[in-house]
Amino acid sequence: MAQPEYKSWYKTARWQKHRAHHLALNPLCVMCAKENRVTPARVADHTVPHRGDETLFWDGENLQPLCFTHHNSDAQRAERGGRYRRQVGVDGWAVELSPEMAESERLKKTSR
Ligand SMILES: [Zn+2]
Repeated sequence: MAQPEYKSWYKTARWQKHRAHHLALNPLCVMCAKENRVTPARVADHTVPHRGDETLFWDGENLQPLCFTHHNSDAQRAERGGRYRRQVGVDGWAVELSPEMAESERLKKTSR
């Protein structure tokens, strides 16, 4: 399977700077913080999976700092087009949607 175009965005100097800047301002994993743990963030994760959307990809407000463990367990799955999508809940934290909910959200968007 061919690599999606956005994979190459991660290799750009622009992204390296964007990511470094975000992690400099937000040095701790937000998911570990939620579990009352203090872990250095290694990854600037897209809160809303960008799925190749350039606006979402470059939106500094759409980033959250994560450690490798949390990034690999959660974000990568969403980014690969997995069945689960995350949304930001009313408390400001990302919440996970069940496949059924994600599907109904998707239908709402496409029928708009
Ligand atoms: Zn973490």
